[in-house]
Amino acid sequence: MARPFNTLPTPLDALLPVEVPGDIPKKLRGTPLGRLLDYHNLGGRLQPHKSAELLVCMCMDNRKQLRLPENFAYILRTGGGNVRHSEFKVSYAVAIGGVRHIALIAHDGCGMVDLSARRKAFISGLVEGAGWSPKEAMDHFNENAPHFEIGNEIIFVCSEARRLGVKYPKIKVVPMFYRIADGKLYLIKDGKGAR
Ligand SMILES: [Zn+2]
Repeated sequence: MARPFNTLPTPLDALLPVEVPGDIPKKLRGTPLGRLLDYHNLGGRLQPHKSAELLVCMCMDNRKQLRLPENFAYILRTGGGNVRHSEFKVSYAVAIGGVRHIALIAHDGCGMVDLSARRKAFISGLVEGAGWSPKEAMDHFNENAPHFEIGNEIIFVCSEARRLGVKYPKIKVVPMFYRIADGKLYLIKDGKGAR
């Protein structure tokens, strides 16, 4: 979800670019996570996939689109890429879909960062745009915003990757970052999330 770029700058020095095949860490090469980086960042040839091998969790923001072949990935999009309230869908992708790898993708300029600063705009937007009463809109925001607001995007996605890694111990969960400016995926220095 969008927010202006002039607030809460993202610590870009935490990001590791993936521009050539050698930038893909050895432990990810030949895995669905390595293939995600190859397809999206390196323009790798889009191979046909018989079934999904990856779950991608990312923000619903309209500015982001991944370059992936058909059938390759389940994609779960939520505000901020937050899956705390969507875990049944994660479980489904694992249990029924058979995926064993998850990419959690944060991005810059995310509207779920500093959400409380946009409380007034959110309420008036629902009143004017959807026809809600001011009270309904205010209650809706107050009830839900605390569950969806995230602090820093990078810290959030790394801690979520760790949390999911504990919850799904046989699944490899790696946090990544999407930069709106160049539309590329980045790995995160301390985001081994990856065990
Ligand atoms: Zn977002």
